[in-house]
Amino acid sequence: MQVTNVELDLAQTHKVLRAYAKVTFDDVFVVHGIRLIEKEGILIACMPNRKRWLDCTECRVAVAILDDYCGRCGNRQPPIIARMEQLRYELGCAAGDDHVRPFLDVCHPITRSFREAIESAVVTAYWSARDGPTQTAVAGHDARGTPAIAGQIRPPSCEEAGPAGA
Ligand SMILES: [Zn+2]
Repeated sequence: MQVTNVELDLAQTHKVLRAYAKVTFDDVFVVHGIRLIEKEGILIACMPNRKRWLDCTECRVAVAILDDYCGRCGNRQPPIIARMEQLRYELGCAAGDDHVRPFLDVCHPITRSFREAIESAVVTAYWSARDGPTQTAVAGHDARGTPAIAGQIRPPSCEEAGPAGA
């Protein structure tokens, strides 16, 4: 499977988010909502994700894990640590399991090499869109948009960057 097209919406003012990407695979499948973020000088492509939810402790309506208050009744929710433990319990995970995050990837590559292929295509498109195809090296990246730090390992997902559209 190959990346055959990348379309970007550049984020002009956000301090972490650089762009939203729409990536086409083999000219037959499109993934929207890939976010390109910059963290410590490295551009990272984050897969689309969605919030996880728990029931409000008062009215039982669903409240996003990271929201402190219920949008329906206004009840303050338990501390985030307690909510994450409740989520782990509901998912049948061990207490303290740090694989459970407040966000869930909607789709993601299985292999590191394909993650890198997607990321490379998005980063290249970003530099091309932002500075033009003849742009030279920028801090942290070479002229083709490849991170200059060889062997940099990226996290499997980017929940710390926050949810799409939040
Ligand atoms: Zn409520």
